[in-house]
Amino acid sequence: MKKCEVCGTLILFGPVRSDDHIYCSYECRDRGDFEQETEYIPDDTAVAMAMVINTGDCPKCGGPGPVDVQYSHTVWSALVMTSYKSNPEVCCGGCGRASKLKATLFSFCLGWWGFPFGILITPVQVFRNLFGLFSGPVHGNPSSELEPIAKLMLADEVRQRESDVSSLTYPP
Ligand SMILES: [Zn+2]
Ligand SMILES: [Zn+2]
Repeated sequence: MKKCEVCGTLILFGPVRSDDHIYCSYECRDRGDFEQETEYIPDDTAVAMAMVINTGDCPKCGGPGPVDVQYSHTVWSALVMTSYKSNPEVCCGGCGRASKLKATLFSFCLGWWGFPFGILITPVQVFRNLFGLFSGPVHGNPSSELEPIAKLMLADEVRQRESDVSSLTYPP
């Protein structure tokens, strides 16, 4: 019997595989991938990086921060089908509000046309966006959601540097 590497659940059928690793679900696979990619990045470094992102310029519009992860919520429907999701974005308050307004308009126009979920979920997504307009990034106080993103960015940077170094050491 195989065990999930992340949560330890015994896997009865169809493990999810990623390279040599096995997991019980796609959620655990994503967590496993994330942990392997970022395991060598210390938490304090990620916290410091989150602070740098938070107090820096907006990566989307280049305007002044504060910057943080912000979510816009969309839904669209077609007859019996309804699809909804929450989209995270690292940006400033102005860009965040623009995305939330766009998502409100999108959901308000396209969300209703499914029965029954379109009718139920559309007001939820619209309210989540409108409610979100009142919160935004706070200077010097990055949200806990920014830390894993900062970790991934650091891991990316390290990988980039490693490939630079190896191309210097081993010229083609
Ligand atoms: Zn698992
Ligand atoms: Zn911006």
